Amino acid sequence: MEPKKILIIEDEVSIAELERDYLELSGFSVITETDGSSGLDRALNERMDLVILDLMLPGVNGFEVCRRIREEQNTPILMVSARKDDIDKIRGLGLGADDYMTKPFSPSELVARVKAHLARYDRLTTAAQQRNEIIEIRGLKIDKTARRVWVDGKEKMFTTKEFDLLSFLASTPNHVFKKEELFREIWDMESIGDIATVTVHIKKIREKIEVPGAKPTYIETIWGVGYRFKL
Ligand code: CA
Repeated sequence: MEPKKILIIEDEVSIAELERDYLELSGFSVITETDGSSGLDRALNERMDLVILDLMLPGVNGFEVCRRIREEQNTPILMVSARKDDIDKIRGLGLGADDYMTKPFSPSELVARVKAHLARYDRLTTAAQQRNEIIEIRGLKIDKTARRVWVDGKEKMFTTKEFDLLSFLASTPNHVFKKEELFREIWDMESIGDIATVTVHIKKIREKIEVPGAKPTYIETIWGVGYRFKL
């Protein structure tokens, strides 16, 4: 089994190193980022099993990083701060962090909490997976419940709308959908835009699921009409 990946977003290098050392000793794979924006970027673009997030960070602060991660993912987030008041404040804001620790804390306490949250998350996702709706077509696997996509066994990251569009098309394979229909279905009334948005999203999805330069094998363009997911 692959080691669990932990992302530490912490600007105090000595603290980050201490956390990393203890977590690595416990068998985790650890990545550290020292500012909010690169940390956020990592969290959103690579799948992490857990994020340890410092509150006061240069660039994007921990509040914002937490909020932005939660918009896209339910990865466990453990927030740390040197100030007890800040912890109370973030609890009150309900940003969706799973746990909070006040610095200084003992590294073994950190490791214990990380393990507890990973175990809890595993239980939740295993339970969810038993009910999961999974679409598998040739090399493409879409987990509609967990909102995850794999191409030939490799996980690809999708934005919310890209995922919705792909999953909608793949759920009704061989059906030709007009761009207008797709736009109405996926974007609904919530955004201003037009059917060109659909085209742009299809292009992005193809970049992730198709072989570059080759004729698309999953989503076929029906000229002058729209798209069809080929079974
Ligand atoms: Ca800090």
